[in-house]
Amino acid sequence: MLGGTFDPVHLGHLRSAVELQECLMLDRVHMVPASMPPLRDEPSVPPEERLALLRLGIGQTPGLTADARELERHGPSYSADTLASLREEYGAEARLVMALGHDAFLRLVEWRTPERLFELAHLVVIDRPDHDAPLPDALVELIHRREVDCSEALFQEPAGSLLRLALPTRMAISATEVRRRLLEGSSIRYLLPEAVEARIQERALYRRH
Ligand code: ATP
Repeated sequence: MLGGTFDPVHLGHLRSAVELQECLMLDRVHMVPASMPPLRDEPSVPPEERLALLRLGIGQTPGLTADARELERHGPSYSADTLASLREEYGAEARLVMALGHDAFLRLVEWRTPERLFELAHLVVIDRPDHDAPLPDALVELIHRREVDCSEALFQEPAGSLLRLALPTRMAISATEVRRRLLEGSSIRYLLPEAVEARIQERALYRRH
């Protein structure tokens, strides 16, 4: 599972999803847009539109799925609920992985029931350019004895470990930067798939209205 606001999806997300699948030998990567992200301001574009952009971005990419399950729930989008629903779908023995970027990882102790996440899945932290702040003490405490140093170690149990992973391609692309460029009328070409850019331009998304 790779959750996020995807406001909008960009090549940093999509390339990471493909590389995660390869590096960790995953059957499938569920990209799950948050309907209502608990720890940030309301996204500038509604969840249905962010999902539509994500679907376009994924296109026919093998193994990647735009997963709408958080849009089907009411209230804040908690990752523990999403993982619980994936666990139910795939069964107790399946190896489940929740991937997140280093920036999101730094705030993990603020999430609801972070220990529960480890009961449900392995956590894989993706290295991100410009995001290398040291871990807060409470986070060090939370991941104590969970950290493993190679992806093979994630095969031993269906959940419970933490792996920090440097994917082959690190992309310094953020949705914040994409939105900023759109607001000021600068080019977003090659930061996200062309089909996503086309829909954003057609609908004049992320502009001042
Ligand atoms: P924003 O700039 O609005 O905060 P974002 O670009 O970080 O957005 P999110 O939708 O918040 O995108 O990210 C979803 C997940 O993907 C998070 O775990 C985030 O850390 C990760 N992620 C986002 N961009 C990248 C990137 N370029 N490389 C690796 N991981 C990324």
